[in-house]
Amino acid sequence: MTDNFDSAVRYSGPRAQFASLTGSPLWGLSVSAIIEIFKDRGWTHNLSERLPTPFGLGPQLNHFTTPQGRDVIWIPSYGMVQDEEFFTHKMERRAFWLLWQAGVELLITGGTSGTADWRDPQGEDTVRPGDFVIPWSFYRDQDMVGTMPGSDMATGFLPRIALMGDPFCTSLGRELERRVNAGLVPQPFRRVHHPDTVKVSIHPPGGRGSFETDFEVLTWRVLTQLISQQEQCPHVMIFGDCISPILARQMGMHLVYYHIPSNWGQGHPATKAHLVDSLDALYLDVLPQACLNLEIDLLTGAEIPSDCACRDNLKSRPPVYMKSVSPATNSGG
Ligand SMILES: [Zn+2]
Repeated sequence: MTDNFDSAVRYSGPRAQFASLTGSPLWGLSVSAIIEIFKDRGWTHNLSERLPTPFGLGPQLNHFTTPQGRDVIWIPSYGMVQDEEFFTHKMERRAFWLLWQAGVELLITGGTSGTADWRDPQGEDTVRPGDFVIPWSFYRDQDMVGTMPGSDMATGFLPRIALMGDPFCTSLGRELERRVNAGLVPQPFRRVHHPDTVKVSIHPPGGRGSFETDFEVLTWRVLTQLISQQEQCPHVMIFGDCISPILARQMGMHLVYYHIPSNWGQGHPATKAHLVDSLDALYLDVLPQACLNLEIDLLTGAEIPSDCACRDNLKSRPPVYMKSVSPATNSGG
C-alpha cells in the first residue's frame, strides 16, 4: 500500500459491457427511486454495493440485467459519495477502475450546464437553456485526471497515448440525437444541437463548488465568437460537469455524452435573477424522468459501435519507451 493506491486489490464485482455514470440530470431523484424506475422497466436489480478499489472503497455500483439479458452497471452521479469527495482524482479513479475492471465498453454520461452562447439569446439556432446538446469537444481544466496508478495507464503517455480528436463517440452521439428527436423534442427539450450544426465544447468547473465568474463567461463568449468567424462554423462554450474523456479513451470505452444547458452562464446578458431557483424546478420536475428513460432505451438497444474513431485514437507507442523510465522495483526492468 502506498499513499495513493493498493495494487493488491482485486475486482470482485459483476461484468458488464454497458454502463451509465450520469450525474446532475438525475439529481431530482434519490438512488432508491432511480433503482425502482429501472425495475419498473423490467430490469432485474442484482446488486447495490460499494466495492473495494486500489484507491479506497468505491462508489455504489448497481448491477442490472435487462429483459433481453444484457448486463448493465449504473454508478450514481459520476461516482460521488455522500460526505466524501466530489470531483477529485481519487473519486474519478475509483469509479473508472470499477467500470474498467467490469469490462465496460459503452459508457453514457449526462450533465447540465450554463450556456455561454454569444449569439442572440432568442435566436432559433442559439444554444439555450432547455435544449439538448451533443457536445463536440471539451476544454481541459488543469487537474483533469488522465492516469491510473498501479496499472499500465500509470504514466498516461506509455505504452499508449490517447488522442483527443472526437472525445465523445460520434456514432453513439448520432444515435442519441435520433432518439431525442424522435421522442423528446419539442417537449421537454426545445431542440437538439449536434456537432454537424454547432460545435459545442464543455468547460468543466476549475474551482469546485461554484459557478463561473462574470469574466470567465464573458471571455468565452468573445473567444467563441472569434473562433466561429475564423472557422466559419458556430462554436459555443457551455460550463458544466465533464467526467474525464481521457480515462474513458485510455480504457478503450466509447463515451457518449449529453448536456442539458439549464441556465445562461453567470453574467450572461440573458441571465435572469434567482438563477438557482429556476435550476431547481428544471432538475426536480423535468430532467430526471426524461433523461433516465432515454438512457434506459439507449442502454437496452445500442450496440458497441464500430463506425467511429474512439479506438483508433488510442495509439500504441514503441515498447522501448516504457523501458526508458525507472523500473517499479529494484529487481524489475
Ligand atoms: Zn466510439
